[in-house]
Amino acid sequence: MVTRILYIEDEPVNIQIVKRMFRGMNYLILEAEHAAQGLAIAQTEKPDLILMDIQLPDISGLDATRILKADTRTRHIPIIGLTADTFSRIDCLEAGCDAYLNKPISRGLLLRTIQQLLRATQSDSAEILLD
Ligand code: MN
Repeated sequence: MVTRILYIEDEPVNIQIVKRMFRGMNYLILEAEHAAQGLAIAQTEKPDLILMDIQLPDISGLDATRILKADTRTRHIPIIGLTADTFSRIDCLEAGCDAYLNKPISRGLLLRTIQQLLRATQSDSAEILLD
């Protein structure tokens, strides 16, 4: 079964890097270059998980996360916040991100975090917070 991951990211190079990390694996990466496009894709495609850049050109990834977590159609989708700003971890978690990773992203940590969140979603357990 293919796991569909929506990556909302305005920097094309970062999308290429992450897509390379998933090469040869059962992941399909859906791309959005700004928050509005990402919200639309999340609502229509219902991805299994969302990678959310925090610095986006239209609204921030924090606000996009709040919108997704307030919407009954999308609130169940795990969101991993991604940012180079080391001070916004708490902001990410308070906005509703299920996990947070610093850029540059470690492939091993990204894959592990994704698998943990998907397992938690499948077992319908309570919300978890990951470092
Ligand atoms: Mn950005």
